[in-house]
Amino acid sequence: MPTILLVEDEPTLLATIAYTLRREGYQVLTAADGEAALALAAQEPDLVLLDVLLPRLDGFEVCRRLRQRSAVPILMLTAKSDEVDRVVGLELGADDYLTKPFGMRELLARVKALLRRRDLLVAELERRAVEAEGERLVAGDLVIDLAGHRVTRANQAVALTPREFDLLAFLVRHRDHVFSAERLLEQVWGYDQAVDARTVPVHIRSLREKLEEQPSQPRRLQTVRGVGYRFVG
Ligand code: CA
Repeated sequence: MPTILLVEDEPTLLATIAYTLRREGYQVLTAADGEAALALAAQEPDLVLLDVLLPRLDGFEVCRRLRQRSAVPILMLTAKSDEVDRVVGLELGADDYLTKPFGMRELLARVKALLRRRDLLVAELERRAVEAEGERLVAGDLVIDLAGHRVTRANQAVALTPREFDLLAFLVRHRDHVFSAERLLEQVWGYDQAVDARTVPVHIRSLREKLEEQPSQPRRLQTVRGVGYRFVG
């Protein structure tokens, strides 16, 4: 369950909100002043409920400092239905605000909405990262653009045949794993093609000519004697 950092200096309100959240299954960290809030924020809560009027550091300052290091959703709790407070809070990076007095149902609805929004955002970022990973393979100064079927080394285009490209992409995708020539024939050339077993060493040699500083002493496309080939990098 998500962890919520609750920052509120009125003991009764703090206890009531903490009780309500825990009953819903949330983990709750509590702080009664701004400095304690910042210290607890190091535990990376999933959401912050932040009162505006606090001893030591006020909620606006806590919000500003949190935003310098974290994208955690922040729900401000303000005593005044003051437009200025609301605007200041949002400008400092708060995601939403709630004006006191508020009901616990209303609070829970806002909490759930913010956590759901955060989940969607996290999922979207993960999807984009996976997609970016899927389109390009990077190994040191070597970049394999899978969608564009292009390879660059130190930003210089490397001309490869389609088979060399497939072989290189396969080995880089499974870097550090050793594959026998037979296995590479299966994976890169396909089962149903009758191909000479010497095809693989020929292609490896050609790739080394194009990619290695010293093709006779390859550092990336290595031969593992008696076993096969692997890409290291
Ligand atoms: Ca207060």
